[in-house]
This record gives sequence, C-alpha cells and structure tokens, in this order.
Amino acid sequence: MYQTVRGLIIRSVDYKEADKILTVLTDTRGCLTVKARGVRRKGSRLKAAAQLFALSQMTLYEQKGRATLHEAQVLEAFSGLQTDIGKMALASYFAEVLGTEAEDAPMDADVQRLALNCLYALANDLCEPRVVKAAFELRYMQLSGYAPDLTGCAVCGREDPVLPVALLESGNVRCHGCALPGSVGKQMPISAAVLQAARYILSCDLKKLFSFRLPPDDLERLGKVCEAWLLACMERGFRTLDFYKSVGETP
Ligand SMILES: [Zn+2]
Repeated sequence: MYQTVRGLIIRSVDYKEADKILTVLTDTRGCLTVKARGVRRKGSRLKAAAQLFALSQMTLYEQKGRATLHEAQVLEAFSGLQTDIGKMALASYFAEVLGTEAEDAPMDADVQRLALNCLYALANDLCEPRVVKAAFELRYMQLSGYAPDLTGCAVCGREDPVLPVALLESGNVRCHGCALPGSVGKQMPISAAVLQAARYILSCDLKKLFSFRLPPDDLERLGKVCEAWLLACMERGFRTLDFYKSVGETP
C-alpha cells in the first residue's frame, strides 16, 4: 500500500551495505521508521531525501507494518545547519526530543510545524540559538500536553506573582513569599520579564515564536528554566543536550 506524507528526517542510521534506517517526523502520523534502500550508493535518486534534517514530500510503500521510501521530493534541506557544529548540535537535541514521540501515534500537527520553524530559524540565523532552544522546549511541552501552568501564583492565585519562583516538578510558579505546604521539589527564581516571555511562547502564533526580546540575564534565566521544566516533565536527560553544552553554547 502506498502512502504520501510530508516527512522530516530526525534520525538516520546506516544499515547493511548501502541502506539507511530513517526516523521520519511526519505531518499526520507522528514518527515513522522507514527503510531507505540503496541511498548510500553514488547516484541514488533518494540520496538527498535521506539526509538528516531533510524535509520531503514522500511516498512510502507499507507492508506488514514496515515502511520503505519509494519516492521523495526534497522541499527543504536546512543546509545552513551543516556548516556550524553548535547549530547542528542544537538541531540534534531537538531531534532527540522529537524522537520520543511514539511510533505511528496520533500527534498534534503543530509538532512538525514547530520543528520546521525552529530548524529554519537556526539554519538562517533568524535569532540567537538560545532563543530558539527555549521556545522549542516550552512550546514542545505544550503540544505534548505538559505545558507549565503560568496563569498565576499556585498558592495565592495572584496573576503577577511577586518575585516569581518557578516550581520545576509541578510545572507552575509562585510568589517568593508564598510558601507551599510540604515538599515542593526543585525551584528556580525567575523574574517578571521571564514569566512574561514564557507566557508569550505558550500563547503566540507559531509564526511569531521568536518575536520576544529579553535582556541577556533574563534570556539566560529563561533558557535555564525552560530546559529544567522540559527535563523534569520528560523525566530523563538527553545525550545530545550534553553534547550541545560541551561545544560551548550557552543554555
Ligand atoms: Zn502568591
């Protein structure tokens, strides 16, 4: 059976002599594992479509639950990523997070849009990589159903918490002076501007995802809290995130 999807390659592993096994983030079917036959051979017509981070209109042949790449037309190669190790490392982190989507599971169609917007911004220097990273982490949590609750202080309900503190495990915020009963786990002081930027990321049109400005100190805090929230909600670390940090990019 033939199926057409718009697919972004988020993982590409060599297989046998000339094949690749691809993880494809699709527009309609979540992530799929797709075998691409002969794509490492010189002159393969599917070579470009099987590259990491290529976006293609793909025709898949599916039989007994296995998909093979039959035809592909590359729509965007994000070639600006290939020349910069920091950008490549950050894109690989996005890919590892996206790869946690279950195979062939229903997925919010905006997950692929989010990924494409972030890769486009990175590849074309639309803004600082750390802006892209924070926006990706927070918006991805929202699309996965784990958005932090930033409507107001979790204790007194005040819409603009006084000296706001982010609660990492429960995914919300409180005023510095509003103590929660019992153990609340890890916390991180933020600022009113950081909270405002986080609310913007969660509510804006995806096309305007990076259109917020923060002073450097606040941007650093936003980066730290978005990463901490994502890691707390996914309950794991990411090898690619460690690598991104090791190549010298600030969070
Ligand atoms: Zn409060």
